[in-house]
Amino acid sequence: MKTIDQIKFAGKKALIRVDFNVPLDENFNITDDNRMTAALPTINKILKDGGSVILMSHLGRPKDGPTDKYSLRHVVKHLSDLLGQQVEFADDCIGEQAIEKAKALQPGEVLLLENLRFYKEEEKGDVAFAEKLSKLGDVYVNDAFGTAHRAHASTAVIAQFFPDAKYFGYLMAAELDNAEKVLNGAAKPFTAIMGGSKVSDKILLIERLLDKVDNLIIGGGMAYTFAKADGGTIGKSLVELDKLDLATSIVQKAKEKGVKLYLPTDTVIADAFANDANKEVAPTKAIKDDWMGLDIGPETARAFSKVVEESKTILWNGPMGVFEMESFLVGTKAIADAVVKATEAGAFSLIGGGDSAAAVAKFGLTDEVSYVSTGGGALLEYMEGKELPGVKAINE
Ligand code: AMP
Repeated sequence: MKTIDQIKFAGKKALIRVDFNVPLDENFNITDDNRMTAALPTINKILKDGGSVILMSHLGRPKDGPTDKYSLRHVVKHLSDLLGQQVEFADDCIGEQAIEKAKALQPGEVLLLENLRFYKEEEKGDVAFAEKLSKLGDVYVNDAFGTAHRAHASTAVIAQFFPDAKYFGYLMAAELDNAEKVLNGAAKPFTAIMGGSKVSDKILLIERLLDKVDNLIIGGGMAYTFAKADGGTIGKSLVELDKLDLATSIVQKAKEKGVKLYLPTDTVIADAFANDANKEVAPTKAIKDDWMGLDIGPETARAFSKVVEESKTILWNGPMGVFEMESFLVGTKAIADAVVKATEAGAFSLIGGGDSAAAVAKFGLTDEVSYVSTGGGALLEYMEGKELPGVKAINE
């Protein structure tokens, strides 16, 4: 793997694609700076080498060009605090000012460019736009795993202008190493925990995992499609009616491949999709009309936890229930605790990005698991076996 360890940055200007797409509140305070702290090792290594750093990122989804709400100016102060030095800012990611500021950078200095997505060319993967960006640095570093599945100008297209000077940053390298460790070097028993709302989003990964795992645990909203497919009554629970056959075929394939499939036997049902709804515990396949399953039940949580605690490798993607509501987070918390216990006992645990990462963070357990990925969609696609454009661009 071509990583920044293979190069000394003294006197060089490194153009780094980072993922600073952080959540901001209405006063532009950063509510979760994980994506920023995750890029610090790469930035610090380059600065320590005696290089200078030009950071480029997107923030949110601006539709109509420059918009204050999506300006990366809002993260300059926090980034300066994190790095312990003032970070320069360019109001435009290309053009005269960006060129001048990049040129004037001294070793040890950092420049952040304005939001790349203020130009439509970024998401279109426009070559001319990528070339303009490329003029700002001598070396291209990609450390934005969260957008590695996109063939955008700054994440993939730009690499062609650095044929002999393109590298993965430490975050990218760690994400790829950890995904590989699970996919191709998993100690057994290997357990995958799949949850979240839809089977359709995760079906490719589930099918691929059937060739690799010993245990497949399915919870969350997607479990009700399995319950319905098996003849259960599921009330108003989430269901994908066009995926019933698919659910049946997953059960069948698991059997054929000797994978132990665990589905929820009991479920926490509610009479409304609300934190203060009335709730009860019911069998997953006998849910009352007009009620819906919003969490796994206590018996299921115990059974799932036991399997998790006996595992040596764990991949977790998707919550067991509507963990955003206090009333329905118990099942997800039980699984998180089991993952932590297994990790303490020596297992390797990889938490897929997105909602599973948010759940683990909500419970304050991020540091108690082996690795929390910063990429939801990117990790899913990588694990499905797809070649990520951001990875391919560095490798080729
Ligand atoms: P995903 O993005 O597919 O991983 O799904 C995550 C979302 O699924 C979270 O916002 C959860 O609140 C939601 N979810 C999990 N379990 C259920 C459920 N039983 N009913 C409805 N939504 C659920």
